[in-house]
Amino acid sequence: MMNLSLRVFRLLSFIVTVLLSAAAFSQTATLVINNATVYTVNRNQPGAEAVAMQGEKILFVGSNADVKKYIGSGTEVIDAKGKFLMPGIIEGHGHIHGMGASLINLNLMKVKNWEEIVALVADAAKKAKPGDWIVGRGWHQEKWDHAPAKNYLGYPYHEELDAVSPNNPVILTHASGHSMYVNAMALQQAGITEKTANPAGGDIVKDKNGKIVGVLEERAQSLMYPQYMAWMQKRPLEDRKADWRKSIKLAEAECLKNGVTSFVDAGSSFQEVAWMREMANEGKMDMRHWVMVREGIKNLTANAGVFPIMNEGNGHLTVNAVKVSLDGALGSYGAWLLQPYSDRPDTYGQNTFSMDELREIARFCWDKNLQLCVHAIGDRANRETVNIFSEQITKNKAKDHRWRIEHAQHVNPAEIPRFKEWNIIASMQGIHCTSDAPFVTKRLGEERAATGAYMWRAFMDAGVLVNNGTDVPVENIDPFANIYASVTRKLKDGTTFYPAQKMTREEALYSYTLANAIAIFQEKQKGSIETGKYGDLVLLSNNLATCPEEEIKNTKVVMTIVGGKVKFKGQ
Ligand SMILES: [Zn+2]
Repeated sequence: MMNLSLRVFRLLSFIVTVLLSAAAFSQTATLVINNATVYTVNRNQPGAEAVAMQGEKILFVGSNADVKKYIGSGTEVIDAKGKFLMPGIIEGHGHIHGMGASLINLNLMKVKNWEEIVALVADAAKKAKPGDWIVGRGWHQEKWDHAPAKNYLGYPYHEELDAVSPNNPVILTHASGHSMYVNAMALQQAGITEKTANPAGGDIVKDKNGKIVGVLEERAQSLMYPQYMAWMQKRPLEDRKADWRKSIKLAEAECLKNGVTSFVDAGSSFQEVAWMREMANEGKMDMRHWVMVREGIKNLTANAGVFPIMNEGNGHLTVNAVKVSLDGALGSYGAWLLQPYSDRPDTYGQNTFSMDELREIARFCWDKNLQLCVHAIGDRANRETVNIFSEQITKNKAKDHRWRIEHAQHVNPAEIPRFKEWNIIASMQGIHCTSDAPFVTKRLGEERAATGAYMWRAFMDAGVLVNNGTDVPVENIDPFANIYASVTRKLKDGTTFYPAQKMTREEALYSYTLANAIAIFQEKQKGSIETGKYGDLVLLSNNLATCPEEEIKNTKVVMTIVGGKVKFKGQ
């Protein structure tokens, strides 16, 4: 009897040992980062020294001593040398194709004045075949070191572009994307003359003598697209797709260089979604994409079956949201205001999308459980959007809808508690504040600027979720410039734009990580360094939680990791 029970005991302990070693084997990490200053964005465990990953997920977060038990013979171990490790940056609102295209087309973001633009176009025209379109983006007349010699409202006239590019149509999109500069050849191809009427929601800017200056504001840009598209359409679909894919890869590489591991795209077509899906399923994506579809109600209804695309291509693509732009931008007098512009009392800005159609789209999104993300910059656009959102939300106030207002840039103070009441996310961009500040007071006057411009603090204090991003290519993808703007509201000239609205470091880091994950229903997968989440991490040269304020901007990316794989290594 004794013998038998001893044998059973031995057998049992053998089985237990086998099971334990199997468990131990499954607990071996593929990648460990130790000796790090880990900033987790997890309230229950704010700091740590080491992170272990197994495959694409985080296996362990804790001390250097405790991480040792996850290190096996096949584990890659990276010594962080005390550097700052935080969750991968999530770009909360950008334009992935626009970003990629800006890396291919003429980049006018950094030009100092109009003369530089003319020189760049002259150079491009020399290289182009007659009839080819010359495309660029990123100019901003308020950021030039001097106004053009001959100008109207700060805008130069198109003649100088005509002189250097007589045989090639030129379209140069404003940094905000809300207006464009065109030359005579482009105007001629689009059939725009001094007699052409302004389309609803747009302006063909003319001087006091009725002469076309060359700028098409807001919806007037759509007069140009058919001709440009016709030229594009002549190219085979496969070529266009190849160019598009190239732009996405260029954008991804630039993101990874900047510590960005996930990207929220604020508006792609169904065609682009199809191309993205193909790339994701081929395993060609190096970061995670979350895409809003930007189409009218007709196409949305016709393609409703496309939704939802959830974590396809191994967690690299989700499409479960719709984007609508209700107004334009402040710089181009497109933001739709409750009261006229202080520096152009003849205009309230532009309502760029039909309210009836927005109402139909809201109903569609509510019924299909899609997130609705509406671009609203002016206080009128924000008010109208909250009104339309509330008509749907009131059907079931308990529903976790996470509808977003993109930018929520200029609000009447009365709107702030209404965001909270209807649980609307304020999807803001810190860098827009310091970048636009030089002309905000000019456009809005003192009072509106003081009580309603970039109200992060007021939104957060009211309990509204504020997430963060750059609106790339409107601004550079650089997250550190954006965090700096969010916590300082300091302009290049050293002045500060209404400092009472500053974020703390903790809030800024949260806005860029977990808040961005919550704003896309992905807080269970990313946004903090926690066991079970994706191993999306970034190692930085500076401790963003404690370094001197001025140092934030100089932060360098040491390493970017997506899904437990090193995707970028800095110097
Ligand atoms: Zn945008």
